[in-house]
Amino acid sequence: MKFVTAEQNGKIFVGMVDEEQNVVINIQTAEYVMNGEATLPHSLLECIALGEVFIEKAQKIKQWTETHFSDEYICPFSNIRLLAPIPRPTKNIFCVGKNYVEHALELGSDSDIPEHIMLFSKVPTTVVGPEAVVLNHQHVTNELDYEGELAVVIGKKGKGIRKEEALDYVFGYTIVNDITARDLQERHKQFLLGKSLDTSCPMGPWIVHKSSIPNPNQLNIETKVNGETRQKANTEQFIFNVETIISTISQGMTLEPGDIIATGTPAGVGKGMNPPRFLKPGDVIEVTIEGIGTLRNEIEK
Ligand code: MG
Repeated sequence: MKFVTAEQNGKIFVGMVDEEQNVVINIQTAEYVMNGEATLPHSLLECIALGEVFIEKAQKIKQWTETHFSDEYICPFSNIRLLAPIPRPTKNIFCVGKNYVEHALELGSDSDIPEHIMLFSKVPTTVVGPEAVVLNHQHVTNELDYEGELAVVIGKKGKGIRKEEALDYVFGYTIVNDITARDLQERHKQFLLGKSLDTSCPMGPWIVHKSSIPNPNQLNIETKVNGETRQKANTEQFIFNVETIISTISQGMTLEPGDIIATGTPAGVGKGMNPPRFLKPGDVIEVTIEGIGTLRNEIEK
């Protein structure tokens, strides 16, 4: 099950991808036509907060549309624009730093391999969708960089979550590109400014429900810039796996439905190269994760 937030004729809706037909089902409209009433909320964030009820309803709606076709609620991808699945998260995006050994080493030395989870955040205004243009910010940075990452979307409120039960708190998974201004990241010591420029968190193209990804700690991940592979790894190389990340964050902080955690980037960022290769206007970045898809964005020309 893949859930999207999409726009058609100026209207934003929650959709479900029908992979066989290669279309998106507008589940709110479909529910209304099916039942004569619309019970689902109008944002994916609110749908996620409904918990299992949402999944049950979505499955029923999808099943019904298999025998009831209508342009009213079945949309070809060519007629819609995908937005970030959660276009405006309710809080900052949690980001894990240096969660792959090779990446920690490319930016430093052995002493940069973290003993404890390193955590920072990106503000909600950073989020943009698949295919969205990422501003080049040339007036504030000369060192714009990419970071392809698996992102976890929380589905259930929890605190003090144990590792063994951590995946029960997940709604699903998506892709983020943790775009970073390296010069700002360094100059201002704390990461917030260098990580939170407008449009610096491309996200999507959809959230894959956890039922389709039984083990998030074993997924191939690859980032290409203008078709050239820059990052290629597997999440089995995480220093801290998804369960450990969720458990650690939640010990003293409540996690809530719709919270997003970017799990860290593998080796191969622009800054790690010799000489460094930062992003230029017009560059196209594609992040692909096994079982999820590809997130593609272009830097403003
Ligand atoms: Mg990152």
